[in-house]
Amino acid sequence: MAVELGVLGLQGDYSAHGAMLERLGAAWRVIKKPSQLDGIDGLVIPGGESTTLIKLMDSSGLWEAIASYADSGRSIFGTCAGMILVAKDVSNPAQRSLGLIDIGVERNGYGRQIDSAEAGGVFRSAEGDCSMDMVFIRAPRITRLGDGVEALAECRGDVVMARQDKVVVASFHPELTDDLTAHRYFVDMVV
Ligand code: GLN
Repeated sequence: MAVELGVLGLQGDYSAHGAMLERLGAAWRVIKKPSQLDGIDGLVIPGGESTTLIKLMDSSGLWEAIASYADSGRSIFGTCAGMILVAKDVSNPAQRSLGLIDIGVERNGYGRQIDSAEAGGVFRSAEGDCSMDMVFIRAPRITRLGDGVEALAECRGDVVMARQDKVVVASFHPELTDDLTAHRYFVDMVV
C-alpha cells in the first residue's frame, strides 16, 4: 500500500490506533509536530481531553497545520475528543473547533455518570448492515447532522459515526475493541 497514515500523538491512546492500522496493513507514523504531516494522506485524531488537546495543538503549531492539511483535501478521522476538535459546533461548554465537518456535538453528551460503556451498534455499508462493538468514554454526542453529512453507524438511536467529504468522525473509541470496521472504512477511503 503506497499511502502512509498519521496518528496525532499529543495525548491519549494513539499507539492503539496505530496497532489497528498495522493490522490492516497500513503504514503509519506518530504526528507530534507540523512537518510530520508532509506525505501523510490520512490523519487519525484520537480521543483524550479536547481542552488539553487544543492547548497542545496551539503550542506545537499543529492547530494551524492541521487546518491547512484539511484545506489541501487530505483525509481525517476524528474519534471522541478528536471528533469534538473537527466538529463545526461544540456545546457543553462551547469551545473552539476546526469546523471541518458540519455537525453539532455536545461534550460528555451521555452524562458524566456514564464514564465508560461498551455497547453494540450498527454499521451501515453498501453491502448491508453489520453489527459493531463500540466503547464510549465520557463520549461526545452528535446533536446535529448537516445536509452534506452521511450517517455511517448508529447506536441506541444515535448516529455515532458520520462522514462529510474527506472527514470521518466517531463518538466512540474504535481502537479499544477488536473490531476493525471503523479503521478499515477510513483506510479504504484514503486509499
Ligand atoms: N470528554 C472528553 C472531552 O470533552 C472526550 C473524551 C474522550 O475522548 N474519550 O474532551
